[in-house]
Amino acid sequence: MFDYLIVGAGFAGSVLAERLASQQNKKVLIVDTRNHIGGNAYDHYNEDGILVHKYGPHIFHTNSRDVFEYLSLFTEWRRYEHRVLASVDGQLVPIPINLDTINKLYGLNLTAFEVEEFLASLAEPKDYIRTSEDVVVSKVGRELYEKFFRNYTRKQWGIDPSELDKSVTARVPTRTNRDDRYFTDTYQAMPLHGYTRMFDQMLTHPNINIMLNTDYREIQNIIPYKEMIYTGPVDGFFDYCYGKLPYRSLEFKHETLNEDVHQPQAVINYPNEHLYTRVTEFKYLTGQEHSKTSIVYEYPQAEGDPYYPVPRPENAELYKQYKALADAEPGVHFVGRLATYKYYNMDQVVAQALALYAQLADRPTWHPREDLPAKQPVTPISNGSNGSNGSNGSNGSNGNRSFTAASSNGSGRSATPVAAGKAEQNGKSH
Ligand code: FAD
Ligand code: UDP
Repeated sequence: MFDYLIVGAGFAGSVLAERLASQQNKKVLIVDTRNHIGGNAYDHYNEDGILVHKYGPHIFHTNSRDVFEYLSLFTEWRRYEHRVLASVDGQLVPIPINLDTINKLYGLNLTAFEVEEFLASLAEPKDYIRTSEDVVVSKVGRELYEKFFRNYTRKQWGIDPSELDKSVTARVPTRTNRDDRYFTDTYQAMPLHGYTRMFDQMLTHPNINIMLNTDYREIQNIIPYKEMIYTGPVDGFFDYCYGKLPYRSLEFKHETLNEDVHQPQAVINYPNEHLYTRVTEFKYLTGQEHSKTSIVYEYPQAEGDPYYPVPRPENAELYKQYKALADAEPGVHFVGRLATYKYYNMDQVVAQALALYAQLADRPTWHPREDLPAKQPVTPISNGSNGSNGSNGSNGSNGNRSFTAASSNGSGRSATPVAAGKAEQNGKSH
């Protein structure tokens, strides 16, 4: 008899499996329909030996020290700050829009102060910011909105930004300085040996059994268990009884090219050209040296694997109905991006899973593992050079802690300070 049947071996399922097995001595069976662990964060070496992310680029960033320290039990890190260029008006310019974006796009030589005035003169202030169009137009005006956001969003989501909740484009801030990092979180890093290795470490425990290529429905009446943790789509669990919750999908087209470097930055966004939204070159993310290079194109789709919950009021209403069923379902715990229908980043899912664990185990916080060999000290990856995000960064439920002295978590690992910075113009939530 298993104590827990965990459906899904992504972040949500793996964190819970690891915690329950290692801290509560629970016997866990984790199943996934896919032929691998890691969920959407799965990475692997392709046939040319280049480390790629099967389901598109996954860049780890968080303001939560708890989340970062927790994951540091299972991986060392590679320092990495993500940068993106957008192809607009025949030029490649930084996105998020910053001082250099404006100067390059308009052939100007404005200072930070002047660009603030420039953007203010374009902005269309709104009393109430409701949609993803409002967020951008109220900051930078209609012209920049159309150049950078409107078409990208229509491609990505299949609907106009005016029909999407403000939280979607609010993920991308506007800056008047020259900071060209995509994220400003305190911790920004990539698992040194990749995500899958990290998941492997998490799930290697005598109390954890893994079954791949298995839908939980195939085994739920055969293999006995006490409780279930479910991380798949919530509407699917209830046989779509209220109708389908929209999830946006993507098709990933991977290519390996016979050249050392393909593009000038890790990601190039194409708001207005092509059917794809962006192209990622993995070697920037992984730091791998190789004579060839691998890239991936992302083509948005309505049908296919569910990747993105679609934040808009009618979907939130529909989700509420499913949530009521989920809350009333005895012995089943719903957690993760698909099961709680939240456009969460990886760190937020980790935080959500740790919070559920704390609830299940009646323990207020996570504890380190005595049985794992000590890794190198945990150090913040970002130096916060242009200011770390003082606004609502993605800190999950663990709070946006800042700290000023090296501190130990009792596992021989220590954390060191990070500069606090200026808030972004938009309430970004990466
Ligand atoms: P998932 O990773 O989706 O895991 C759920 C698992 O459940 C899946 O493996 C699925 O196969 C399995 N499952 C579903 N139904 C069943 C069933 N019936 N039986 C058995 N198994 C089942 N986040 C970031 O922080 N940074 C990024 O840069 C970033 N980039 C992203 C890029 C893309 C293209 C996408 C789609 C997401 C990105 N994310 C990023 C978000 C990140 O992928 C998620 O936050 C995270 O993977 C969610 O983890 P999860 O465990 O909730 O879900
Ligand atoms: N977005 C856009 N243009 C860009 C980048 C982002 O319009 O150049 C919008 C788009 O709606 C996108 C959202 O902002 O879905 C969030 O962007 P992010 O890069 O966070 O998307 P993700 O990495 O989650 O796909």
